[in-house]
Amino acid sequence: MGKQEDFVLRALEERDVRFVRLWFTDVLGFLKSVAVAPAELEGAFSEGIGFDGSAIEGFARVYEADMLAKPDPSTFQILPWRGEGPSTARMFCDIVMPDGSPSYADPRYVLKRTLSKAAEKGFTFYTHPEIEFYLFKDTPQPGADPIPVDRSGYFDHTAQSMGADFRREAITMLESMGISVEFSHHEGGPGQQEIDLRYADALSTADNIMTFRTVIREVALSQGIWATFMPKPFTTHPGSGMHTHVSLFEGDSNAFFEAGAEYQLSRTGRQFIAGVLRHAPEITTVTNQWVNSYKRLIGGGEAPSYVCWGHNNRSAMIRVPMYKPNKGQSTRIELRTLDAACNPYLAYAVVLAAGMKGIEEDYELPREAEDDVWSLSERERKSLGIDPLPRSLHDAIGIAENSELLAETLGEHVFDFFLRNKRAEWDEYRGQVSVFERDRMLPVI
Ligand code: GLN
Ligand code: MG
Ligand code: MG
Ligand code: MG
Repeated sequence: MGKQEDFVLRALEERDVRFVRLWFTDVLGFLKSVAVAPAELEGAFSEGIGFDGSAIEGFARVYEADMLAKPDPSTFQILPWRGEGPSTARMFCDIVMPDGSPSYADPRYVLKRTLSKAAEKGFTFYTHPEIEFYLFKDTPQPGADPIPVDRSGYFDHTAQSMGADFRREAITMLESMGISVEFSHHEGGPGQQEIDLRYADALSTADNIMTFRTVIREVALSQGIWATFMPKPFTTHPGSGMHTHVSLFEGDSNAFFEAGAEYQLSRTGRQFIAGVLRHAPEITTVTNQWVNSYKRLIGGGEAPSYVCWGHNNRSAMIRVPMYKPNKGQSTRIELRTLDAACNPYLAYAVVLAAGMKGIEEDYELPREAEDDVWSLSERERKSLGIDPLPRSLHDAIGIAENSELLAETLGEHVFDFFLRNKRAEWDEYRGQVSVFERDRMLPVI
């Protein structure tokens, strides 16, 4: 038993922990949880806790269903919303096969594998997500329009605001679980909020995002409201993105930083951007995985629809932020495609893989987009070499199917399952007769 495991076993007694929830994430990004008694933990650390992998979305074929969840002791935290003494704790798990090898279906493993490939080249991947979500007055009712908790907008400061009270309670809870929050504010849509987590290595960030979603939902329920990370709940209001600022470090130094270079962006930084741009259409089905995701990327609402980059250009897919003249170690790029309903492990894995490809194969960075790309004509965009992002889940799947980068990064099993699942989602969707069609057609034809 290692030091961290000992620490956890001691904490169980000191904090009077009665239940330990073992958390892991399915291929679509939903959190799974099994509660174990503290007495089971020694065994869980050495061998794992068995479960039926074939009952988890994307995990296993029925004939190889036995899998084990092995808790990662470095992720031990008390769950604040379950109260203290007796209390409930949680740890994230790695999923292993009965022979002890990592499960090819575990999204956390997909990310770990991609991170270690980058580590072989000397790089650590850091991410800082800006997570947007809506708050509604009630639990969702089928067929009914959701009612936002307020009518405020971007950065609004509102007296006795539900959003501000909500953010304060949620942030206090996140901080008590070791998740640092940097900024929070009201976003553009009514009832829409944003909370930005402090940068951390991508594995910790992905774990933190899973915790974040849980905390936000718990706090909302405790206040009698409903939180959603749905990418585009309204036709006429902005969607919820998960812009992510990313950087690569070599030891203690930021590999994207070069003093004196344009935007202080190193050659490595430029190659990384070039990689993410070139492979963007292939990985969009992972960074934007739902039918609904593409309604956010329609143009406007500050969500990207074209493959391009710019410094301080909020219509671009990648932005090089220029807030501070001497960015130094904080040099980073902002990816604006990701939405708040992606699987963070898979999304960060494919983004890193695309960026690394740019570095390994020395991709040339295209010219930056200086204009508002939405205001250009189709022709102007073409002449500037600015391609559209996939316009629907269907388009995104079609491009993804032929992507070697995606197959290699996700691994064959996750790649196949994911595309099969997404095709099924599209097929179900395309047969739906919508309110839009009825309202347009019934009166006239
Ligand atoms: N909500 C926008 C999106 O979906 C972002 C708005 C912003 O952060 N400026 O990407
Ligand atoms: Mg922001
Ligand atoms: Mg925002
Ligand atoms: Mg942003």
